[in-house]
Amino acid sequence: MSATIAAVATGNCVSGIGIIRLSGDDAITVAGRVFTAMDKTPLEKLSGYTAKYGTVSGGGECFDNAVALVYRAPKSYTGENVVELCVHGGIYIVEKTLEAVFEAGAVPAQAGEFTKRAFLNGKIDLAQAEGVAALISAQGQEAARASYNLLQGALSNKISQILDSLIECSASMAAWVDYPDEEIPDLSEDTLRQTLETARSSLTALLDNYENGAVMTQGVDTVIAGRPNAGKSTLMNMLAGREKSIVTHIEGTTRDIVEETVRLGDMLLHLSDTAGLRSSKDVVEAIGIERAMRKIDEAELILAVFDSSAELCEDDFRLMESCRGKRAVAVINKTDLKSVIDTEQIERSFEKTVYLSAKNTQGLGELEHAVREMMGTDKYDSAQPMLANKRQKLCVLNARSCVEQALDGLNLGVTYDALNVMIDSAVDELLSLTGKKATEEVVNHIFSRFCVGK
Ligand code: GDP
Repeated sequence: MSATIAAVATGNCVSGIGIIRLSGDDAITVAGRVFTAMDKTPLEKLSGYTAKYGTVSGGGECFDNAVALVYRAPKSYTGENVVELCVHGGIYIVEKTLEAVFEAGAVPAQAGEFTKRAFLNGKIDLAQAEGVAALISAQGQEAARASYNLLQGALSNKISQILDSLIECSASMAAWVDYPDEEIPDLSEDTLRQTLETARSSLTALLDNYENGAVMTQGVDTVIAGRPNAGKSTLMNMLAGREKSIVTHIEGTTRDIVEETVRLGDMLLHLSDTAGLRSSKDVVEAIGIERAMRKIDEAELILAVFDSSAELCEDDFRLMESCRGKRAVAVINKTDLKSVIDTEQIERSFEKTVYLSAKNTQGLGELEHAVREMMGTDKYDSAQPMLANKRQKLCVLNARSCVEQALDGLNLGVTYDALNVMIDSAVDELLSLTGKKATEEVVNHIFSRFCVGK
């Protein structure tokens, strides 16, 4: 028997309506202790998908008019009995209703517990549950569209197609291993190779779309790097549209990492404005510089800032060197001043170079264009299933590498027994993506990041 949980499902703000949601075997009984219908019909008597107008009371006092919505198991969000009490959306009234519901026997819901119950009751799989979280936190149209597709099961359907083909393969191989003298249909080397190649290309398509769309749906970790005074903080502020980093003309002012998520067109950049890159005897600044170097190594995108009014120096060369082989855009700043910098050398070192004046907020369009091209967003197809996060990406990456190992094994003439182990590992990875084989730890971790009431 599941305990009846309750939480506020709407935001913690003043609004027209506030909703308190209850879920559990006794949800209707518990809500019935707080809610009285105008026509006195007990909530217990209502069938699913029914609404009643009435009042809510607690502590012997009737304190608001309300609408109760009743859903009966299994036809509800969680798959359990659910009641939603819609009261007036004042913070006090909503809290008072929640307290009354607790008095009546409900317990506070944990973060994400409603969705976790929906998952445990088989209403949605783990990928769809992550779609719910992604939809709630979506910060733009593309992110919302991708998460909605996920919630609708686009990814789950794609994964189950791949799974079906691999499981069929694995079952035939297991049969062949157990009964080598029998004729097992569809187990020629060609069929096997074709199945594995199709699985590999489907997994690759998912990974590519994730990479190409990540800048719009997830945002990318971006580092603004450059020597002191190049204009990193000013660029950060130009992108953020307000004062965030401390801008001064004294070198080494940004001593640690300042972080901010900004929108560039329809892309999201999780920006870190790092300490200026130069050798320093100042201990605090040196720690900042070391962290900046680490950030550059880990970043998915680097905006390498150069001061066009100064000649290239040792620090600039070091920056060019550390950007080699990474996704980096050279930003030649201070174009409002007389240029003395060797731009040719920079253009040679970077795939994309942009000229701007952060101080005068000029050149934003060019920067947007360069980042868009660098991140491959034009190749992103929002109609295709989209992975929601790094966990899902890792499952698909691992599954693809198992499929690749199996393909290599096939070419090298490895036994079917050994090939089957690799195919089974790919299957396991995909099952953990959809949650059919996810550990309790993974499941708890995923739901702990939800908000309470969802
Ligand atoms: P950081 O050390 O790289 O973060 O550099 P800041 O952003 O603190 O800028 C250093 C100095 O350069 C400040 O005085 C800024 O006002 C100035 N600065 C930044 N960008 C521009 C620009 O585009 N044009 C001009 N003329 N000055 C700029």
